[in-house]
Amino acid sequence: MSESTSRRVHVIGAGIVGSCTAWWMRRAGFDVTLIEKNVPGEGASLGNAGSIGLGSVPPLGMPGMAWKAAGMFLDPMHPLTARLSHLPKSIPWFIRFAMATKRSRVESISDARANLLAHAGDALADLLHQIGHSEMVEPRGLIHTYENKDKLAKGMYAVELRRKRGIRVEVKTGDELREMEPALSDNVVGGMWYPDVQDCINPMRMTKLISEAFVAAGGKLMTAEVKGFNLGAEGPTGIITDQGTLPCDLVVIAAGAWSRKFASELGCDVPLASERGYHIMITDPGTLPKIHLSSNDRFIAISPMEHGLRMSSMSEFAAIDAKPNHERAFRIIKEATNIVRGLKLDVASRWVGSRPSMPDSLPVIGFSPAFRNVLFGFGHGHIGLTLGAVTGRILSQLAAGATPNIDISAYRPDRDFTGGHLPPSPHA
Ligand SMILES: Cc1cc2nc3c(=O)[nH]c(=O)nc-3n(C[C@H](O)[C@H](O)[C@H](O)COP(=O)(O)OP(=O)(O)OC[C@H]3O[C@@H](n4cnc5c(N)ncnc54)[C@H](O)[C@@H]3O)c2cc1C
Repeated sequence: MSESTSRRVHVIGAGIVGSCTAWWMRRAGFDVTLIEKNVPGEGASLGNAGSIGLGSVPPLGMPGMAWKAAGMFLDPMHPLTARLSHLPKSIPWFIRFAMATKRSRVESISDARANLLAHAGDALADLLHQIGHSEMVEPRGLIHTYENKDKLAKGMYAVELRRKRGIRVEVKTGDELREMEPALSDNVVGGMWYPDVQDCINPMRMTKLISEAFVAAGGKLMTAEVKGFNLGAEGPTGIITDQGTLPCDLVVIAAGAWSRKFASELGCDVPLASERGYHIMITDPGTLPKIHLSSNDRFIAISPMEHGLRMSSMSEFAAIDAKPNHERAFRIIKEATNIVRGLKLDVASRWVGSRPSMPDSLPVIGFSPAFRNVLFGFGHGHIGLTLGAVTGRILSQLAAGATPNIDISAYRPDRDFTGGHLPPSPHA
């Protein structure tokens, strides 16, 4: 064991990011405790659409979107919404989001996302192989569907963003898509096929398996709620939990949408928002598509999983613990019957959870600017399931004093949210 790996590491949060981080750090030889207030994998990592979105290069904020957002908020059937009571709190986030939709920034942000995504598949495959659970991810590809030709034409900019960064995309007619996926209805006029996108067959089970493998490898899983820190001149010396105070050498904040207050206490106020998504599970859908579908007209993901069909949607800016509006979510999600023929909507379960979202669609990965014994790994927004393994691998390299094999300057916590830190894109 090297001097650095003899340090005690405490990882806060056992979602996909924290579980992967704990596992990589344990594998590197650290003495690791993973602290989770609930059950591992039951945060946002429980309910996502399960896409290992290796082609998810375009950010959430695309050119022109800032202007459209106001209209979207007023439309009761639009998946993008904000709770009125939460709006004043959200305004600084939306100002930064609007700034990130400038075309030159969209290009630079796409470079930074592509930079991580290029290593994401390999990191996850490596981790799953080492824990003996490669079966959790299947190479099924992804179809983006359109029922509207104008919207399909507008979607071509996102296709170009991907292609310029090496992502394989094929633009298909409705009939060509129906040949690949006979469950698609005649309403679909065309779309895109992403052959390299993969599927997790059950995101919560995968997260649990990773945290169990961490424990089997000698890591400690502690059920406790972190309340704050004892701070010394050099950084935190103790983690205050509802089970007592734990002496610490190195702390990793991987608490998803809950991370902001910890980051702020540990040296950096980051503009992290809770962007809530909803899903329904259907165990007997009548028709089970074999390929993961995502309607780009309606912002609905239709994900075949090992335990049924999951349909998810919504970007609801609201407090993490605000009362869910399942009725509104269902009104939007049930529109999936326009995309999949013969779909039955006997809902087996409903879920809401918070994506940890940054206004520039880039995660926060790296040391706190204030303390060398604090690492941040959160803010993965719509692609945390995809990026959890690669984030954990980077954090374990940083903890060991190594230089990560990926340039991580774009993800630093104290970055300039007007974009000054990002180099101009060679693809612009
Ligand atoms: C509807 C929907 C669909 C999505 N689809 C996809 C997709 O297809 N592909 C993809 O890549 N991503 C997708 N995402 C995004 C993805 O789910 C998230 O980015 C990811 O799960 C974030 O993981 P995390 O580990 O950072 O956070 P979480 O999974 O939320 O984990 C954070 C953990 O920290 C714990 N915690 C918080 N506070 C404390 C405390 N004080 N003490 C102890 N523990 C604490 C929480 O209990 C929780 O378990 C989707 C998200 C949603 C909502």
